[in-house]
Amino acid sequence: MKKYRQALRLALPVEGSSRKGRRMTKTYDALALLSGGLDSILAVKVIQDQGLRVLGLHFTSPFFGKKNLIPFWKEHYGIDAVAVNIGQQYVDLMLDGPPNNFGKWLNPCVDCKILMIEHAKLLMEKYGAKFLISGEVIGQRPMSQRRDAMSLIRKRSEAMNVLLRPLCALKLEPTPVEESGLVDRSRLLAFGGRSRKPQLELAKQYGFTEIPTPAGGCVLAEASAAGRFIKLMEEKTRPTPRDFVLVQVGRQVWAGSHWLSMGRKQQENKRLNDLSSEADYVFTSVGFPGPVAVGRMTDAGEWDMETIRAAAELTASYASKARRESEETGEPVTMAVAHNGEVHELQIMPRRETSVAWAEPMQDLVAPWKQTRKEAEQEECPEKRGAEDDK
Ligand code: SF4
Repeated sequence: MKKYRQALRLALPVEGSSRKGRRMTKTYDALALLSGGLDSILAVKVIQDQGLRVLGLHFTSPFFGKKNLIPFWKEHYGIDAVAVNIGQQYVDLMLDGPPNNFGKWLNPCVDCKILMIEHAKLLMEKYGAKFLISGEVIGQRPMSQRRDAMSLIRKRSEAMNVLLRPLCALKLEPTPVEESGLVDRSRLLAFGGRSRKPQLELAKQYGFTEIPTPAGGCVLAEASAAGRFIKLMEEKTRPTPRDFVLVQVGRQVWAGSHWLSMGRKQQENKRLNDLSSEADYVFTSVGFPGPVAVGRMTDAGEWDMETIRAAAELTASYASKARRESEETGEPVTMAVAHNGEVHELQIMPRRETSVAWAEPMQDLVAPWKQTRKEAEQEECPEKRGAEDDK
């Protein structure tokens, strides 16, 4: 926690900001955590209704963030927003272990909120903002929106004096921004519980023609990618944000510690090309259409020739034309492998069963991984159990 807080202070907070030729920054009364989910949008509207200027902070990381929607939010909801990249701090949080644990999958929701609020606080001065808002609704979500969790978030992020939750403010104690008269408490709301009806009703009143999904979309809260992330964290000591992006692209297979990402369609092939670096093993077909595959080194280091050949054989097996022709003629096909600035051509037979076994990471890695991690933490720091009781 301490480590990523330090990193937070050093980070360049807003994408597109420049130290040189800095323009006058437009000021706002409040900064909002804007995921783009319905609740975050409604929270901004409720405060804008009081004649206050709000800037949405749209946090991005390898796990969430759709900054391409910023112009859409302006056009459809009248909300100014900027993207704030917290990728490295977020990855550090995942790797060092979130102090308040994970949710059902790999979502560290409580610490995620703390991290975002801390970051937002650092930006208040830049935008002249006097307070922060978030779209949390008490009781809406089981992990981070319980009353005790919401109070912990406010306390741990040291935002007691500045954080306002407009959608459920009337179910909470008045905050200093309400007491000072800056925000009219009588115009705030008392949403609570799991029902989405009040939010949908309010969206209707605002005349929203497009209703965004309840949450902003976060792959850490989904089962589908959890096994991929865990396998990566098991095989690489400090994966980077780019590693966490790569592991979400295309078909993912592993042969022990050897990691291969394969495109399933053109768009994924392009993405893999964009994400690859010189140190990767980049497999492409020669003389026939086929997937691009990227082999990235983990703690195990450079690949041996057997693994390189096996990866080329597997990649070619997903090129239907090459596979068919090779089966008919019994002839090998050519695959190119780029690595460290050199390109080699290999003559291989396309096949799924190679001399090393490739497998997709399983979702059921999650529970044992969490258990092992918990035991390791308790062994390292026996007080942790007591500290958790203290929350
Ligand atoms: S779902 Fe993801 S983005 Fe949302 S609070 Fe949880 S960890 Fe953060």
